Amino acid sequence: MATTNGAVENGQPDRKSPTLPRPVRNLEVKFTKTLETMDTGKPFLHAFFIDLEGCIKTLRYFAGWADKIQGRTIPTDDNVVCFTRHEPIGVCGAITPWNFPLLMLVWKLAPALCCGNTVVVKPAEQTPLTALYLGSLIKEVGFPPGVVNIVPGFGPTVGAAISSHPQINKIAFTGSTEVGKLVKEAASHSNLKRVTLELGGKNPCIVCADADLDLAVECAHQGVFFNQGQCCTAASRVFVEEQVYDEFVRRSVEFAKKRPIGDPFDIRTEQGPQIDQKQFNKILDLIESGKKEGAKLEYGGSAMEDRGLFIKPTVFSEVTDTMRIAKEEIFGPVQPILKFKNIEEVIKRANSLEYGLTAAVFTKNLDKALKLASALESGTVWINCYNAIYAQAPFGGFKMSGNGRELGEYALAEYTEVKTVTIKLDDKDP
Ligand code: NAD
Ligand code: MN
Repeated sequence: MATTNGAVENGQPDRKSPTLPRPVRNLEVKFTKTLETMDTGKPFLHAFFIDLEGCIKTLRYFAGWADKIQGRTIPTDDNVVCFTRHEPIGVCGAITPWNFPLLMLVWKLAPALCCGNTVVVKPAEQTPLTALYLGSLIKEVGFPPGVVNIVPGFGPTVGAAISSHPQINKIAFTGSTEVGKLVKEAASHSNLKRVTLELGGKNPCIVCADADLDLAVECAHQGVFFNQGQCCTAASRVFVEEQVYDEFVRRSVEFAKKRPIGDPFDIRTEQGPQIDQKQFNKILDLIESGKKEGAKLEYGGSAMEDRGLFIKPTVFSEVTDTMRIAKEEIFGPVQPILKFKNIEEVIKRANSLEYGLTAAVFTKNLDKALKLASALESGTVWINCYNAIYAQAPFGGFKMSGNGRELGEYALAEYTEVKTVTIKLDDKDP
């Protein structure tokens, strides 16, 4: 299930890889490594290989920037020296979601700290444990008091207080579009603090008839079902070219049937429970809407009868653009598969929503791949891979998927103020 040419960073653990770390093999897992799974219900191996690995790589990457935050010298007039300083913004707020609690925090914390800022963090109320544990580690390694502040609590209280605080100069938010708007509004009503937002998507995954179908089916499957479907990057609109549509649907159903669901601490498990009752109800409501609006239910379509908040991997075919399951962020294990006839048409349809976070394209034709890469309105385009996210490469959304970028060198600009210093020299000869 490698989705990223063998890369496991923030992608999928490579099942072909024979070497699980010893503690995992022996299941002598330390309590501290299990917190994220306890809190979210995500499979332990995913928390270990994807979330935790992603955090470590992000911290290492930004640690490398800490002594390289530098301005420029700018030629202007003969007797003028002009240079820029990239200064810290000051106190930065961070409000994080429950789907990748520690990873989304580290994506904000690492660039903020390496640019010299201090941080006030509010983790999602569903999943505060790893942020608090990280806080204890931050204390243990000797950060000065006040540099990183972790304030658990609810959105309308603690979250709103951070967004509207007059002495917080920047806020980074990941979560729903609805709350993203509130954060920006609070920023504009208070002190016009800088705002970066990552608000999810309804991401097109385009499978051309000339694609490697094995690869496309597996990536599309992992792309939508990974993390119980609770991903801003979820491949939740799969457009398949008509010549290969039936075969793609058939193979996708096979994958969905085989997806192991159950105890997140069982290392065979690929899918755990949804995060809470509210999300569970929302997903089931969307599944019902799909049935009512005439999509063809190929597999799943309901909760698991014998346990809590588990939902069967669900595959819909014959999905059309106007159905709710083709327009709304489902954030659950539901794969809507649509059909397309030609490239011009699929570009238009892929770009028709207000979201623009990620897109994926499966084709062996280089011209087609590059044409789609430039035409798709999204912050990321993956060609023949999925969830290939790297600490070095920027991540963020076009349109209503967000503002600004996290990760990579681009993230540094979101955590610094640029100051221009202009010095007029004495023009008399010394
Ligand atoms: P949410 O936006 O309410 O929660 C995200 C964070 O925002 C949490 O920390 C929450 O406490 C905080 N928050 C809530 N209200 C706030 C306010 N008024 N001011 C400041 N902060 C506030 O998300 P949710 O309700 O848990 O999930 C709803 C939907 O959002 C999901 O179904 C999904 O579509 C989307 N979502 C997207 C992401 C993502 O990665 N982009 C993550 C989680 C949820
Ligand atoms: Mn909410």
